Amino acid sequence: MSTIAENIASVRVRMAEAARAAGRSPQEILLCGASKMNDAAACREAISAGIDCLGENRVQEMVQKRSEHAYVGAPLHFIGVLQKNKVRQVVGQVDLIHSVDSMGLLDEIDKRAAMNGLTQNILLEVNIGGEDSKSGFRPEEVESAIKAVLARPERHVRIQGLMAIPPIAEKKGENMPYFLEMRHLFVDSTPLLLHNSDELYLSMGMSSDFEDAIAAGSTMVRVGTAIFGARHYGAPAENLS
Ligand SMILES: *Cc1c(COP(=O)(O)O)cnc(C)c1O
Repeated sequence: MSTIAENIASVRVRMAEAARAAGRSPQEILLCGASKMNDAAACREAISAGIDCLGENRVQEMVQKRSEHAYVGAPLHFIGVLQKNKVRQVVGQVDLIHSVDSMGLLDEIDKRAAMNGLTQNILLEVNIGGEDSKSGFRPEEVESAIKAVLARPERHVRIQGLMAIPPIAEKKGENMPYFLEMRHLFVDSTPLLLHNSDELYLSMGMSSDFEDAIAAGSTMVRVGTAIFGARHYGAPAENLS
């Protein structure tokens, strides 16, 4: 079995190859480790191996692992479905929330950030496959959503780009059209987004498809399995009582 450090090294090699093949610089693409269901020690190992950031997708798990110092030394992102009643536990605790999937959630984050006297970095999640099972902004809603937020006299969110999780693909390459559509949306949104941040991200690509996502223009891939190994659903995680 390879170690987390070895896995990160080989993911980096594959990322760099995909970037170069697309005429891009490998340095412009960040590697976010999707560390759900992996313990604090695994997170620390990934950080020592130079992961750019870690992304969690369950609030309770994140709070628990933070108390075990899982994230010291790397930016922490929230990448999972975020319920409004858990916003309080995430705002100000993470460097970036990828998964802002509705105006209602955005408003809740904005309100909480205002109460805490801070500005929360967020991405808008786009339901690029138009799936009923997924939340997210529809592609045609993105521009008006950004404009509406930027027009506010006061705001406590900074929209730093877009995120998408395309449908589960049967075959390699199947999600390329979705990735390309996301890239277009991102490029179209960039002039607007530059009004509130000069650090912008297009978050897309996971273990099974990050090379395609990079070919299409992703600037941040979220990789779990290829770094940490298979997740064991069902088995209670030992350190999560
Ligand atoms: C788990 C997860 C990933 C990583 O998935 P892998 O297929 O294990 O690489 C990426 N994004 C989100 C939102 C996730 O929840």
